[in-house]
Amino acid sequence: MPSWVNCRLVKRAGDAYKSGMTDPTPASVPFDPHALPPLRDVIARFGLEARKSLGQNFLLDLNLTGRIARSANLPAGTTAIEVGPGPGGLTRALLATNAVKVVAIERDRRFIEALQDVVQASQGRLSIVEADALTVDPEDLAPAPRAIVANLPYNVATPLLLGWLARIDAYVSLTLMFQKEVADRLVAKPGSKAYGRLSVITQWRSDARVLFNLPPRAFTPPPKVESTVVHLTARADPESADWRALEQVTAAAFGQRRKMLRQSLKSLGSAEALLEETGIAPTARAEEIDVAGFAALARAFRARHPLEAPSAGPAETPA
Ligand code: SAM
Repeated sequence: MPSWVNCRLVKRAGDAYKSGMTDPTPASVPFDPHALPPLRDVIARFGLEARKSLGQNFLLDLNLTGRIARSANLPAGTTAIEVGPGPGGLTRALLATNAVKVVAIERDRRFIEALQDVVQASQGRLSIVEADALTVDPEDLAPAPRAIVANLPYNVATPLLLGWLARIDAYVSLTLMFQKEVADRLVAKPGSKAYGRLSVITQWRSDARVLFNLPPRAFTPPPKVESTVVHLTARADPESADWRALEQVTAAAFGQRRKMLRQSLKSLGSAEALLEETGIAPTARAEEIDVAGFAALARAFRARHPLEAPSAGPAETPA
């Protein structure tokens, strides 16, 4: 039986590192990403034409994938988790870093076989998990310390990020490629046009910074938009707030972002009281309120509308 058939059994991926299927011993010889056949040859050999429905825009320049992998700055001993290895350009680059192991989650079965040369060359450091990343918990796949490094499929990038943010303490870092417009929102500050719900939730949970942009021509096929690599680490001391309450407060506020908060928060039932309790001017607008202000509003809202159990993760995907 070819080894990739075994790999598919890793599908119930909670067992990936517990099952002993992969050898955790670090390679003795440094991994050379260029020693394997060029990615274009891999794509031609396995007939891996890109599928738009799966957000497939590949990075075939190993210098570029090397830059992304190095920018993650993984401490020695970290397990790198990659979502969507595709033909394996970033996967190879990650194997050339400090990462003790690489676990790659890929939904498109065509790539599982194509990646077997990399699995072989990795000397037991690479395991491939065939799964939808939206349905797996990376913490089940890799022991700490772990980090996620990925050129994300753009159609599911935001829900994936929100799921990881909810447990960001479990990761050394997240180093992720987004379309630039999304990256701009992740790091946007109050007062800017891009500042919105995604900015508040991301910056509540993490310190997020832009590393660099890539033009469409860096990808095959080129997407219509520019792309940006963002590095996120857990915030040392995030304001206490209930996730669902923060979602509700930011949805109301940014749902009518041009209106004053005394108007836009009316749907929460107690706009004036919430603003008074938090010391926020009733005439302020959503885009003027910083993360601490929204966290205070979320706490005040939750105090008035208690839940049976606090919510610690996303119920929806904010725009
Ligand atoms: N890492 C490769 C590179 O940089 O060339 C490919 C990146 S491509 C933008 C996104 C990859 O994610 C594709 O390989 C695609 O098949 C995979 N993918 C899409 N949706 C996925 C999902 N829900 N779970 C896991 N992988 C997914």
